[in-house]
Amino acid sequence: MPCTNSMRTHWQTLALSCLIAITGDPAAAQKTLTPRPFVLVLGIAQDGGFPQAGCRRRCCQAAIRTTSKRRMVTSLAIVDPLSHQRWLIDCTPHFPDQLRLLDTAAPPSANQPLLDGIFLTHAHVGHYTGLVNLGREVMGTQNIAVHAMPRMAGFLSTQGPWSLLVKLNNIQIKPLQAGQVIRLGKRIQLTPILVPHRDEFSETVGFLINGPERSVVFIPDIDKWEHWNRRIEQLIVTADRAYLDGTFFDGQELPNRDITKVPHPFIIESIQRFAALADTQRSKVHFIHLNHTNPALAPESPAAKAIRHAGMYVAEQGTRYSL
Ligand SMILES: [Zn+2]
Ligand SMILES: [Zn+2]
Ligand SMILES: [Zn+2]
Repeated sequence: MPCTNSMRTHWQTLALSCLIAITGDPAAAQKTLTPRPFVLVLGIAQDGGFPQAGCRRRCCQAAIRTTSKRRMVTSLAIVDPLSHQRWLIDCTPHFPDQLRLLDTAAPPSANQPLLDGIFLTHAHVGHYTGLVNLGREVMGTQNIAVHAMPRMAGFLSTQGPWSLLVKLNNIQIKPLQAGQVIRLGKRIQLTPILVPHRDEFSETVGFLINGPERSVVFIPDIDKWEHWNRRIEQLIVTADRAYLDGTFFDGQELPNRDITKVPHPFIIESIQRFAALADTQRSKVHFIHLNHTNPALAPESPAAKAIRHAGMYVAEQGTRYSL
C-alpha cells in the first residue's frame, strides 16, 4: 500500500508523542523530527571529469571499462527538505545526470521551480558550461536565478551563447559580493569567499554554507594555500566540514605540461600543512575536484590510503551531509 500524506502525518504525530513521552521535552522532540537541510555531493572530478576525453593513459582505463568507477565534475546541491527548495553550486558539463541524481535524492515539488538558484564559483569550463541546458535548444527554463560575482556576471551577460540565456530570460543574473551573506530560504545562509586562481574571465570564489546546526566550506579551485591572504586552517576550524581542492595528489601527474601553469595545493602539501591541526579538525577535510590523473580516485591506491592514514578523506559522489 502506498504511503499517503495523511498516513505520514499520522506516523509523525505518533513519533512526536513517543519522543515527548521519552524525553519530556516537546521542543527537543520537535527538533529531532524536523528534517534538516543538507548538501549533496553531485560530483568530485576536475573540470574534465573522470575518465577524461581522449585519455589513453593508465589513469582512466578502469573508469573507461567500469561505469561505477566514473565520476562527474565537482558540484554540490543544497537542499531544504522542509521547504522543498533546491540550489546548485556550479553548473557542470554533467548537469543532466547531476539533475537526475538530485531528483532522486530530493524529488522536485510540483508547484516549485526546477531549481531555486545556481551559484557559480568561476568561469572555467567545468563550473558553468552546464548552463547550456537551460537554453531554448534544451530545457528553455524561465528566470532561473544564477548568482555570480561581478566579472562572472559581466562575462555571462556579454559573451555568447550565455548572453542569449540572459536576453531570453532563461536565466536571471543575481549579483554576488565577496563576504556578503545570502539567505537561502529560511534556514540556510551562503557566503562567497574570494580565492586566488587563474582568473582569465572571472574572479573565483568558494562558498561557506551555514545551516541550522552545521556549516560547510567549499573551495574546489584555488592556487597554492600560501598564495592566499587568508589561512585555510581558520576556515577548517570555523566549519564542520571542508570540501577542499584536491586536484593533484603530487607534482608527478602532468609529465607533458608545466605544472606551475596550473597551480593547485597538492594533496601531499595539504597533508603536510594540516598535520599541525588536531585530529578532530583534520577529519573535516574532504578532498574534491580530483584530476583524472590523481591516483587517489582509486580508493585502494597508496595515495587514497595515505589520505585516510592522515585522518582525511576523498569526497564521495552521491553522499549527503546534514547542515
Ligand atoms: Zn575546476
Ligand atoms: Zn586519464
Ligand atoms: Zn578553475
